Amino acid sequence: GDDKDGYYKHRVGEVLGGRYQVQHALGKGMFSGVVRAMDVETKKLVAIKIMRNNDALKKGGFTEIAILEKLNESDPDDRRHVVKFERSFEFRGHLCMVFEHLGYNLREILKKYGLNVGITLKATKAYAYQIFVALAHMRKCNIIHADLKPDNILVNENHTVLKICDLGTAIDRSDAATAQTTITPYLVSRFYRAPEVILGIPYDYGVDVWSIGCTLFELYTGKILFTGDSNNQMLKAIMEVRGRITPKLYKRGQLSPQHFDEKGQFVSIERDKILGKTTARTLQIIKPTRDIRTRLAAVSSGLSEAETRDLNNFIDLLDHCLALNPEKRIKPLDALKHPFFSAAKSSHSHSHSARR
Ligand code: ATP
Ligand code: MG
Ligand code: MG
Repeated sequence: GDDKDGYYKHRVGEVLGGRYQVQHALGKGMFSGVVRAMDVETKKLVAIKIMRNNDALKKGGFTEIAILEKLNESDPDDRRHVVKFERSFEFRGHLCMVFEHLGYNLREILKKYGLNVGITLKATKAYAYQIFVALAHMRKCNIIHADLKPDNILVNENHTVLKICDLGTAIDRSDAATAQTTITPYLVSRFYRAPEVILGIPYDYGVDVWSIGCTLFELYTGKILFTGDSNNQMLKAIMEVRGRITPKLYKRGQLSPQHFDEKGQFVSIERDKILGKTTARTLQIIKPTRDIRTRLAAVSSGLSEAETRDLNNFIDLLDHCLALNPEKRIKPLDALKHPFFSAAKSSHSHSHSARR
């Protein structure tokens, strides 16, 4: 049966699609519940994404499948770090997608280490490289993922191989229907949302690179880089770290008048949670007060010379991922050639211990 929101309520041991024996829940998102199951034909573990019983969501599911098939077909040797989709079937009105089974998502891995503790720079580097391989592949296939964040990045049991998952809100730019940008200020999960999306500037593949900049910072520090309870407060947080958004940039945005006054000053709209009141105040943001270098230095003490070089390269890469102007943002193929990955080749081995 279903719960009131249309999620399928699975039972342990039941067989879905005549072949997949359910073991336990792996996760739950806005769109689906995901269960681990045993494929009784191959004796292999799979993950089954059971979409909520809802026509609009089901339609989205078919787009997700088309995009997954495109990404998988152009990567027959499974070297591009996108999750493998096996097949789909319908079960009691639910669209079910069968995937290779992976161990954990990066949010769960960070949680395991505890609050404000990230993974080592070495592990961050190994993951970052694989993520950019995936981004380059998606770019080549004209796909914008549009929901990159630690929850949608999976690693296998021994933590070495990483795969991008959840193409549920991805956009195929070579599809005539979605070739053009429409202004959608809620594209991408809020903390990982690029400034051009918030400002209503036509966006492109660069939104994924922004999300990955945020994600890599979070992996290394255990802290979310930008937080805010609204798009307006996201802009404030972004400017505190990255500096002010220039008039040249925000003037291109259809939604900029919601955030900047006629004089070009940022208007911060703050909500008092307890009183439920909203106040608007004009802020003059000139210089960033919480820049990335200072924040990363604060969590990296006692580094060797080689490690300091590595950290500086990491900061430089983040700087290029988090360019406020989407045209200036680094492209995935260039990111793969960044010194962070080429300097000190020996440190490419995988390690996933927590950084203390
Ligand atoms: P969202 O609300 O983020 O849009 P969603 O409903 O689209 O979520 P997914 O993100 O695809 O669903 O999957 C939800 C969760 O299930 C993931 O965050 C992950 O923890 C788990 N999961 C998904 N696919 C797999 C897989 N192949 N192997 C292991 N776990 C998986
Ligand atoms: Mg998800
Ligand atoms: Mg999703």
